[in-house]
Amino acid sequence: MNLLIATSNPHKLDELRAILAPLGIDPVGLDSVPGSDSFPEPEENADTFEGNALIKATAYAKMTNRICLADDSGLEVDALDGAPGVHSARYAGVGSNRAERDAANNAKLLAELDNIPDEQRSARFVCCICVASPSGEVLATSRGTFEGRIAHTPRGSNGFGYDPLLVLPDNRTPAELPADEKNRRSHRAAAAREIAPQLARILKRV
Ligand code: IMP
Repeated sequence: MNLLIATSNPHKLDELRAILAPLGIDPVGLDSVPGSDSFPEPEENADTFEGNALIKATAYAKMTNRICLADDSGLEVDALDGAPGVHSARYAGVGSNRAERDAANNAKLLAELDNIPDEQRSARFVCCICVASPSGEVLATSRGTFEGRIAHTPRGSNGFGYDPLLVLPDNRTPAELPADEKNRRSHRAAAAREIAPQLARILKRV
């Protein structure tokens, strides 16, 4: 049985495929499942990344009758008690496309942290992955982080979302890293690497 990754985001699918390929795992994306455009989108209403990854993995596993992997990710800022957290994608609540939403989210984050000194600007991207069986049983979970602190002004033009605002320990932002370096160091890569051996065992059993 091949693994289904519950995303239609080609960037995420490519990243996960690259990490899982050396283990002989060749996952497919949601787009390759017949009828997937009419699947009802599960409501991601958990208040943790773990909870939302579980909602997506179990819902799509049951809908497709396949082993399914789903992830949920976002930014946690310590000075904001973990916000924007699970609300990262729509933090500012405005914008009709991803670029507009990202710009508004970044502007809101900088405004919220106005006057907060560097040593209190610690933050991280978090990615949680959940793998579920066709009956909706949770088979494996993992969590990865990408640590840094929030910049005072955006830097770099690669990537997406809050990438221009997270200053990494080497003083670059993910938006200043080449894509392959970000993909190796990211929260998604860490979570995928952690789950990969479990996944290899699960897929061998079926
Ligand atoms: P999702 O997991 O695709 O729903 O991502 C939620 C939101 O978290 C995105 O819309 C971004 O705002 C933020 N986010 C997640 N991963 C990243 C990343 O690698 N870089 C920048 N922002 C991210």
